[in-house]
Amino acid sequence: MSGTRIVIMGPPGCGKGTQAKQLETAFSFVQLSTGDMLRAAISSRTEIGLKAKTVMDAGQLVSDDIMIDMISKRLDEPDCANGFILDGFPRTVAQAEGLESMLSKKEIALDAVVEVRVPDEKLVERITGRFTCSKCGEGYHDTFKKPISEGACDKCKGTEFSRRSDDNEETVKSRLKAYHDQTAPLLPFYEEKGFLRVVDGDQGMDAVTTEIKRVFEG
Ligand code: ADP
Ligand code: ADP
Ligand code: ZN
Repeated sequence: MSGTRIVIMGPPGCGKGTQAKQLETAFSFVQLSTGDMLRAAISSRTEIGLKAKTVMDAGQLVSDDIMIDMISKRLDEPDCANGFILDGFPRTVAQAEGLESMLSKKEIALDAVVEVRVPDEKLVERITGRFTCSKCGEGYHDTFKKPISEGACDKCKGTEFSRRSDDNEETVKSRLKAYHDQTAPLLPFYEEKGFLRVVDGDQGMDAVTTEIKRVFEG
């Protein structure tokens, strides 16, 4: 396996998905979003999807066993050989340990963990305004990124959009709590290993992308 291997971390709504997609285009690696994988499992009504839906709608974390197994299988697929950006995984210490052992079995290592830092009070607006093109998955926002021509996707001209059932103010509070209690402790863990790069996510989308690219271009 070759290529660049990155984790993008940060609270719900900080812009992980938005940035991961930009980077996927700029560098030749694949975005692995565990949230997207779980939502696909829900749509196709698999056993994991059925289990996960209740947990996700409550703003809690799906079990470590399920998540570690999901990522471990995904990393074996050939498109990951050119590098990957993990978006939404790991989210707990157990998942970070699971990732370490998966990678060491494959004799590969992470290149960096990018933390996209955004203050909590900005996140509710980011999340409650989020919507996505149902056809191509392009992400939008009611205030910060409207389609150029109203009602039609910039990328594919699709006219149907969807909102996540967990993107409401109440669930956001649980998701933020889960982030601070279970995920934020990974930051010092990665800092000690020398992997952590902090980026200011509280600026325009393009400025964030530029800052992240700068991290990799030195
Ligand atoms: P995450 O994957 O971290 O949950 P998203 O990338 O889905 O976050 O972004 C959440 C919402 O905020 C989306 O509607 C997105 O369009 C918008 N957004 C992302 N980055 C920014 C930014 N830098 N400034 C303003 N809005 C943003
Ligand atoms: P966010 O926009 O909050 O960053 P994601 O799309 O990454 O959202 O995740 C949505 C939900 O899916 C989470 O609130 C959680 O319930 C579940 N989930 C996603 N990734 C993981 C993971 N690595 N571990 C546990 N649960 C996860
Ligand atoms: Zn589209």
